[in-house]
Amino acid sequence: MSKIVNIQIECPQCEKQYVAKIFRTLWGDGCNADNFETRLKDSTNVVTCPHCGHSFRLPLSLMYVDVQKGFAVWWEPQPDAGIDADSQSYAAMFGADSYYAKAPRVKDWDEFKQTIRRYYTGELKAKPITKYDLGTLKQVVSKAAPSQEKGGCQGAFVLLMVTAASLIGLTCFGLSYLLT
Ligand SMILES: [Zn+2]
Repeated sequence: MSKIVNIQIECPQCEKQYVAKIFRTLWGDGCNADNFETRLKDSTNVVTCPHCGHSFRLPLSLMYVDVQKGFAVWWEPQPDAGIDADSQSYAAMFGADSYYAKAPRVKDWDEFKQTIRRYYTGELKAKPITKYDLGTLKQVVSKAAPSQEKGGCQGAFVLLMVTAASLIGLTCFGLSYLLT
């Protein structure tokens, strides 16, 4: 159920364009504190320009979610109003106290991983959603962003322009707006 999108990137170094696949949502079901980093890798959403080799992690919000355990955490490298909108939708659907609506928003990548680890170790309290069945939840979440795993329908392909300006953080441009 992880959501992968194709994004057209303008390289901040050589200004040439290329397309890369990045995660918008990473589904952690079946993981634990010892192995979740085999799914959420340090190479996750790191893109490399085929023209000049410039490599960097795309600063676009990413949600790590484990429905079985009952928690979600946002990596939010720059303020993203799209998450505000998503959180409001989740609150309406699953309740204001649901882990989707209350998912922590973490700016730093290492802290993002630490937060996930603390949910798996129990230091932070996970809270599975019980009053909705998981099938409904997964349907709703999969509507929020197209999934490649659904097959090759054209609707599942999202092509976005990411300008150099938004990449280097000069704007607060919330790309998740474009995805919903
Ligand atoms: Zn380049």
